[in-house]
Amino acid sequence: MSTAPFRIGYGYDIHRLAEGESLIIGGVSIPSNFGTVAHSDGDVLLHAISDALLGALALGDIGEHFPDTDPAWRGVSSLDLLARCHAMVRERGYEIANLDATLVLERPKVLPYRDAMRSTIAAALELDSGQVSLKATTGEAMGFVGRGEGVDAHAMVLLTKRS
Ligand code: MG
Repeated sequence: MSTAPFRIGYGYDIHRLAEGESLIIGGVSIPSNFGTVAHSDGDVLLHAISDALLGALALGDIGEHFPDTDPAWRGVSSLDLLARCHAMVRERGYEIANLDATLVLERPKVLPYRDAMRSTIAAALELDSGQVSLKATTGEAMGFVGRGEGVDAHAMVLLTKRS
């Protein structure tokens, strides 16, 4: 394992959207008549952040650690998966300096939920809200996001070695 003082990680996730599914983003349930199609709660943002945490230490990805073919992970809260990824990071002597994420969703507007998402993510990772940046954009009516067929999220995280 690296002893570098810093490690950077990137994560990406994408989910299809369908009517009648629940829309949970950043651990926050958003009222909507459509939501993500997934075996888990389909929290695209937490999946991207979890993959960024694993990626920073070259630990693989959440699909490998928590396969949706395993009944143990069916319907599991993504906050739980995020906490497990964070534990793997801490076990290896690193802590999160900051994370920065972007959600790409056509509708509904997520701005009213952004601070709730930030504080939920910060609490799950034992961070201050100032260490958690969350941005959102639309697909500008283009592509799968613009057509409302799906949602995706990007996340970057910087880890520092605990002294
Ligand atoms: Mg996912």
